[in-house]
Amino acid sequence: MVGVTKRFPGFTALEGLNLTIPSGSFFALLGPSGCGKTTTLRLVAGLEEPTAGRILIGGKDVTDTKSYRRPVNTVFQSYALFPHMSVLENVAFGLKRRGVRDAGARAHEALRLVQLDHLSARRPIQLSGGQQQRVALARAVVNRPAVLLLDEPLGALDLKLRREMQIELKQIQNEVGLTFLHVTHDQEEAMTMADTVAVMNRGEIEQLGAPEELYELPKTAFVANFLGRSNLLTGPVVASKGDTIVVDVAGTKIEVPKARAQRHAGHVTIGVRPEKLLLHVSKPQPAAGVNVLGPGRVIDVSFTGVSTDYLIDVPGIGTMSLFAQNMVFGPVVQTGSEVWVAWTVDHGFGLSDGPSSDVSTASDTPTETDD
Ligand code: ATP
Repeated sequence: MVGVTKRFPGFTALEGLNLTIPSGSFFALLGPSGCGKTTTLRLVAGLEEPTAGRILIGGKDVTDTKSYRRPVNTVFQSYALFPHMSVLENVAFGLKRRGVRDAGARAHEALRLVQLDHLSARRPIQLSGGQQQRVALARAVVNRPAVLLLDEPLGALDLKLRREMQIELKQIQNEVGLTFLHVTHDQEEAMTMADTVAVMNRGEIEQLGAPEELYELPKTAFVANFLGRSNLLTGPVVASKGDTIVVDVAGTKIEVPKARAQRHAGHVTIGVRPEKLLLHVSKPQPAAGVNVLGPGRVIDVSFTGVSTDYLIDVPGIGTMSLFAQNMVFGPVVQTGSEVWVAWTVDHGFGLSDGPSSDVSTASDTPTETDD
């Protein structure tokens, strides 16, 4: 997409969006409700016309090409299968309409890919939701589109089935090698499946990259909190020390690697992930390469199974979130305990913007809900 703007009456959904999706990749467009994901997908599909800009697929300008002539297929949350046709007929439908000769054989092959060939004679109503979604997928894949568009395709499935389908969908993409463009507001889904994730906010791409890259090195407060959770600390840069900058956070000097900081001067916001923090019940000895904050007080302890999540109030700084793996039975400290938090300097990151963001904590992030 080159310089794509989409205006609806009284509302600009996208403004000059530039987005390149590598051919053969599994690309996820991730963002909160209303950020413009579906609009982007509909523009690629030709279901909406851009107000300005061009859309190219495989290097060919399709901006003025009718939807049904574009080399794309869409899988929606609602499967929209033909109820009066068998599973096989549903999958073969598009091929037959285009006069493809071996439509039946190709439909069987697509059904084998989604592991449903043994149910090819059934009607959609005789299938579970997950099976119907796989038929819808087979029906799209069978056409070998250049781009397969997935619009919250797993939204209607229950959590367990959804997780299974995420793995399956990724395997299918690997096998067929088509470009998948997947729109979702579920950060876990995007990170599990996609090889590239574009985080979208208010009609713009905030950051784009491999899931690990985005998670390890978020560049904005929005990305730091939309993709997982982050502890953000703000203060002036007071020194430069070899490979690190030193930030004064409410009187405590915190170091961040220069290579992981977007800005090296002025007031900066730095961050560290909750699972990178270590809990100490006494003040740790100062050590090179380690940041320490505290003392603080534990204000909440939540057992989540794999980890225990602690909320720690550090005077002058605010609430820090810390995830500790459950290596021993029961929490290490109780609510009310005095603690220090420490982390390896290399785990910190520096943002390009301030702490203000639409998303305050990851718990606000809709991960399993539909909207
Ligand atoms: P969701 O996850 O809720 O589907 P989204 O990120 O896909 O959200 P879009 O559907 O792309 O969001 O919508 C982006 C913005 O454009 C929203 O604020 C929406 O209200 C607005 N919008 C979408 N379609 C229209 C329309 N036909 N007329 C006016 N505004 C629209």
